[in-house]
Amino acid sequence: MRASSEGAPAPAARADLHVHSEFSWDAPRGAMMASCQRALALGLQVVAFTEHADYSDLAGGARLDVAGYLEAIAHCRREFPRLSVWSGVELGEPHRFPREASSLLSQGRFDLVLGSVHSVISAGSVLEFSELGQESDSDPRQLMRAYFEELRQLIEGPVEFQVLAHLEYPKRFWLAGWPPYDPQAYREEILAVLEAAARHDLALELNTSRGGDPVWALGPGPTVIGWWRDVGGRQLSVGSDAHDPSAVAAGFLLAGQVAANTGFVPSTARLGMWTRPLQPKLADGG
Ligand SMILES: [Zn+2]
Ligand SMILES: [Zn+2]
Repeated sequence: MRASSEGAPAPAARADLHVHSEFSWDAPRGAMMASCQRALALGLQVVAFTEHADYSDLAGGARLDVAGYLEAIAHCRREFPRLSVWSGVELGEPHRFPREASSLLSQGRFDLVLGSVHSVISAGSVLEFSELGQESDSDPRQLMRAYFEELRQLIEGPVEFQVLAHLEYPKRFWLAGWPPYDPQAYREEILAVLEAAARHDLALELNTSRGGDPVWALGPGPTVIGWWRDVGGRQLSVGSDAHDPSAVAAGFLLAGQVAANTGFVPSTARLGMWTRPLQPKLADGG
């Protein structure tokens, strides 16, 4: 195993808080046990299995088997006592499916709940970013504005969650003919999302997209992580979005550097999260 190249965690990035197993409908090569083994081999302390709970047509009606999933989590906790195995779920657009999402959350205890946007409503119908290849006449600026507005609705929606997952997600599917994505072009929209997330005391996820090309894949990139700090965001959660064991903690070296360069440190209060140390207080009462 490579010790310090891409794929190995940075010294302080010891928790992968976004991993999918065979219980996610789009992760046929997912394997919870093998992912735990991989996490231990990489020196991680925490792994969170945040399985998909999607209610859009893309999921084809697939539903998370909560009982089977929680049983598998319990099994892994027994098998790997040195690893903190968190249960979790990744809610896809729960603001559009509040009844289904709330019902799922009531079925078991989830240590970590991610909120995600994978699609927008465009011209009255659902547009999945993963299917953008078929939508080559889409205007990227219009799509991105719709995406950031959808994120705001997710945050202000009725279903509570803890982590805002993979901001800038559409970058993964950016079409070759489009002008390069630049967060500065959407500064106002992104700041509105980040301010809403900070008000709701969410953690912002730094998604390493399974270690893909860092400029395009890191979601969000360093600019937005800096804005998160600037609006007073306090918590950062690092996740690979691995859909098979080989991608656990992929890209963590870079993520750890970005987090540290932005002033975040591994939290001592909540294992797995990154936080910003409180600024030294100015003398008060004066
Ligand atoms: Zn996702
Ligand atoms: Zn995911």
